[in-house]
Amino acid sequence: MKENAELKIDRRLNRDDLIVITGAGGFIGGALARYFHDLGYTRIRAVDRKPLPQWYQRVPGAECLAMDLTEKENAIRTVEGATEVYNLAADMGGMGFIEHFRVECLRSILVNTHLIEASWRAGVSRYFFSSSACAYNTDLQKDPKVRALKESDAYPAMAERGYGWEKLISEMFCQEYWAERGLETHIARFHNIFGPHGTWFGGREKAPAAMCRKVIEAKDTGNLAIEIWGDGTQTRSFCFIEDCLVGIDAIMHTDKLTATPINLGSSELISINDLVSMVEDIGGVKLKRTYDLSAPRGVAGRNSDNTFIRDVLDWEPHTPLKTGMEKTYAWINGQYADRKAGKRVVKD
Ligand code: NAD
Repeated sequence: MKENAELKIDRRLNRDDLIVITGAGGFIGGALARYFHDLGYTRIRAVDRKPLPQWYQRVPGAECLAMDLTEKENAIRTVEGATEVYNLAADMGGMGFIEHFRVECLRSILVNTHLIEASWRAGVSRYFFSSSACAYNTDLQKDPKVRALKESDAYPAMAERGYGWEKLISEMFCQEYWAERGLETHIARFHNIFGPHGTWFGGREKAPAAMCRKVIEAKDTGNLAIEIWGDGTQTRSFCFIEDCLVGIDAIMHTDKLTATPINLGSSELISINDLVSMVEDIGGVKLKRTYDLSAPRGVAGRNSDNTFIRDVLDWEPHTPLKTGMEKTYAWINGQYADRKAGKRVVKD
């Protein structure tokens, strides 16, 4: 088995143990399937409700199943024979999506509920749940000069409506399945993951991809303007996908983090205005900015406090935002050209 270059991870997995990844037709799930494949694991079952031609990435040799995991029978089929299960399936998108489609977001509770029960019944060794910074108390995120969120800030609970509450309750399922039934669960709270092979147009894309697309579009059309949601002072941190994958692997495979939610995010805070300037720099262009103050803008500020992950793993996401953005920009640039040429691209 290949080792991770930057972190020693004791997986206690055999090369042919079955690794199940749900949401594998999407951004992080697809990247995770590729990650384990590249490490040399030979049995990967990838599951997503999207038809196979719409998956963002397809990993050679993986068993790919198109199934809706809100159905109990499909959840049971999904985990059959699995050693490890990674649940990354959820109905989600950027602020525009999660503010407008709360019911869809809440309904993802069915996926985790069926999957964790089926995993426990099937005798799965370890179960991973992808939670979110949206599970944190929104009252603590009203100031753009945020103090970074630490794990205990989820309670008293006042999560993001819809999406955030689904995450918080699913976390609790993971904690109680461990406490009462002994299923080993691991929970990461992702903070804005971005990078190549993510959605970049159509309504579900997040700020980094949207900014890259808008800059590329402006250059291509000659209309050197950009519309920003909100007043641009809102702050966020963005974590590069490669850091996220190493983090998932490490969090899943340490006994120190059983049933214990932990931040998986970058602590490099940036305002949306500065993010636009960064992408303008990468694209070599300056654009006239307009602000849509009625557009969804989310909380005023949010950052990841990485004290806990540093303590436990002696590691934290460290790819500089600029490096990640350059790679993302280059990838979206290629996608943009492909779309223009009528070729198939990553799309919801
Ligand atoms: P994504 O939308 O690219 O992937 C999610 C996938 O889940 C999609 O392909 C979708 O078709 C699939 N899915 C949704 N409902 C399903 C169902 N009922 N049955 C089967 N498949 C279903 O999103 P992503 O960015 O890869 O996110 C993966 C996970 O990480 C999600 O749980 C998400 O909530 C969480 N997360 C992501 C971020 C981020 O910044 N990307 C931040 C916080 C949390």
